[in-house]
Amino acid sequence: MVDDALSRVRRARKIYRDLAAFYPYAHCELDFATPLQLLVATILSAQTTDVGVNKVTPDLFARYPDAAALAGADREQLEALIKPTGFFRAKADSLIKLGDALVENFGGEVPRRMAQLVTLPGVGRKTANVVLGNAFGVPGITVDTHFGRLVRRWHWTQEEDPVKVEAAVGALIPKRDWTMLSHVVIFHGRRICHAKRPACGACPIARLCPSYGIGETDPAKARTLLTFELAPGAAPPAASAPSAASAPSVLAAPSAPAAPSELAVAAPVPSAGPGIAGSPASPVATAADPETV
Ligand code: SF4
Repeated sequence: MVDDALSRVRRARKIYRDLAAFYPYAHCELDFATPLQLLVATILSAQTTDVGVNKVTPDLFARYPDAAALAGADREQLEALIKPTGFFRAKADSLIKLGDALVENFGGEVPRRMAQLVTLPGVGRKTANVVLGNAFGVPGITVDTHFGRLVRRWHWTQEEDPVKVEAAVGALIPKRDWTMLSHVVIFHGRRICHAKRPACGACPIARLCPSYGIGETDPAKARTLLTFELAPGAAPPAASAPSAASAPSVLAAPSAPAAPSELAVAAPVPSAGPGIAGSPASPVATAADPETV
């Protein structure tokens, strides 16, 4: 599939629209109620799953409810609380320094601008975009491992550097859609377009994807690879191989509702609830693969 610039924009926007329709409930899967909580949870999510982070944050947020409390945290107690998330010494160090910096430079509040956020310890553009998009409603593109892998598979860009990926994708998709784009792409990467065995035969955007066929194309086998439940009452679409006769822009919506038993669900773990923006709780199981948001 060779695209000129305009075709690439059209195909990218079509993929986004189809994924947004397929995952209308996509949202940040970290549990939080304040910008600080989201910032802390996002730092903790490096090299582990959102599910794992959500298990430790209730106690963490209760013990350290604000930046000043984090700044004054007893290191051993903090490390013990976050140990299950891995790299707990480095993360504890980041959180204490984060609390310090927020108190010293921002009156204890999480700043609302990218340029300010990235001055904070442990905060890069990826973390800043998560906070901007989900706590402050400022559109942001979150380039994590899933996002980078998928947009390269879709030939939106071949860049490996996350900052360059962010810029390339930002040129394809309208800014107002950046936060939701991040959610649906990451949802798709966690649930269908896996790093090792993408479930191409159960993929709702198979006909738009230039990498169709790098994974399992047999629909029945592909369904066994899914690590999610689609949505209440929905079934995986009957993906079919792209052909010369099927225009890339034609994609069937998810098919008729099916019994939940048709869905291959791996270790479902219900989401604990909505985030600050009031996004719906996920009805889905969450991924087992580590992610680096
Ligand atoms: S067709 Fe395959 S490679 Fe393309 S997005 Fe779907 S699962 Fe991923």
